Amino acid sequence: MTVKKMQKRLFGTNGVRGIAGKDLTPELVLTIGAALGSMRKGRIAVGRDTRTSGEMLVKALKAGLMSMDCTVVDCGILPTPALQYIIKDTFDGGAMITASHNPPEYNGVKIIEPDGTEMGDEETILLEQRIFDRSFSPVTWDQAGSEIQSPELIEQYIEGITRQFPNTPGKNMTVVADPGSGPACLTTPRILTSLGCRVLTINGIMDGTFPGRLPEPSVDGLKNCAALVTSSGAAFGVAHDGDADRAVFIDEKGQFVEENQQFALIARHICRTKKGVVVTPVSTGYNVETVVTNENCSIEYTPVGSIYVARTMRALLARGKPVIFGGEGNGGLIYPEHQFCRDGGMTAAMMVSILATSGKPLSELIAELPPRIILKDKITTPDGNRMIDFVKTRYSQDLLDETDGVKIHKHNSWILIRASGTEPIVRIIIDSDSYDEACELQKEINNHISQLS
Ligand code: MG
Repeated sequence: MTVKKMQKRLFGTNGVRGIAGKDLTPELVLTIGAALGSMRKGRIAVGRDTRTSGEMLVKALKAGLMSMDCTVVDCGILPTPALQYIIKDTFDGGAMITASHNPPEYNGVKIIEPDGTEMGDEETILLEQRIFDRSFSPVTWDQAGSEIQSPELIEQYIEGITRQFPNTPGKNMTVVADPGSGPACLTTPRILTSLGCRVLTINGIMDGTFPGRLPEPSVDGLKNCAALVTSSGAAFGVAHDGDADRAVFIDEKGQFVEENQQFALIARHICRTKKGVVVTPVSTGYNVETVVTNENCSIEYTPVGSIYVARTMRALLARGKPVIFGGEGNGGLIYPEHQFCRDGGMTAAMMVSILATSGKPLSELIAELPPRIILKDKITTPDGNRMIDFVKTRYSQDLLDETDGVKIHKHNSWILIRASGTEPIVRIIIDSDSYDEACELQKEINNHISQLS
């Protein structure tokens, strides 16, 4: 069973995104706040990342919420998973002003449900309906909502992670933290220090212009982090995206750890301590399935998007299935015993625990995993669905999976072709255990697509 994807008009896979002041205006954010306040009455927690437009937009969001008589609790600057942790079961909802990994000029809004998960498709479509119809009106002067400033709530999140690792697994371990000038400056170095690590921090001062590197933690952007890891003799470097729901790693040799390998390593560790189901989108590398099934656990696939992973995890648990882990092959991993959202700070802590348990260097642990070659491509097309239908007919003799777009299984490899929900592009991922086979499949799929005109 899996949660189905539904088409939305304004919200993408992870909320509304756009260039601040141009696409994402204060007026739009005020309307989103008012629509949300009309739908989720009560105490609403809000927060933001470090972007320069954040203060302007969070004030618009709060005004919208208060115009619907909500009590707004402003948690200040904090990672998205920290806000989700704070909201979980103690608020009537929440909203985060963030554009995650997008460049500095972008910003966005993510809506959080009272259980701490991102709002699902059905509810988001109802919220969009209110935004477009403006089917709400502000309360009268004597009923306007109020605001409480609660920057101290971030402590709950830090404690929520550190108490899961009680035996100071980071003792005698040096690590490099690269929060990328984002909100994890306030959390990840403290979490790692609490675990006993000696922490060196790079890009550790919050700055919405992102002077050290862009919010997307790329191989190129992490060169300075990698250099600090090797020069300091650190066990690893950990870097986050702009709202720290993702974490990526640099091994002790200064090499970037491919995110599917990172997922496979953490999945193997978790599957060795408990047995159950691991949930992930169809775009995740086959190496994750291989390590999970080798440890006598099972895998469940979902459409692409962390919200489908989180909601499928919850749905499976509600049906009595033992769900032990979930996540995406981009460093966004979900630990159900902690919370049902991607959490970069938790992933950083988990890596300390894995290295302490194994006693091996990170590069050696990665080398133990099944090798996979992943090639990614994107094609601009106004009609992605037509391209996908065409590809389906070309591969009708193969095993096809239509969970999201079409995934073609061939020998020990697969090709995934899916249309973006927000841009006129089709994304192609090829995953194989051999470089030659991956290139062969890439050539083959490009040949098929070139016949479509
Ligand atoms: Mg993010």
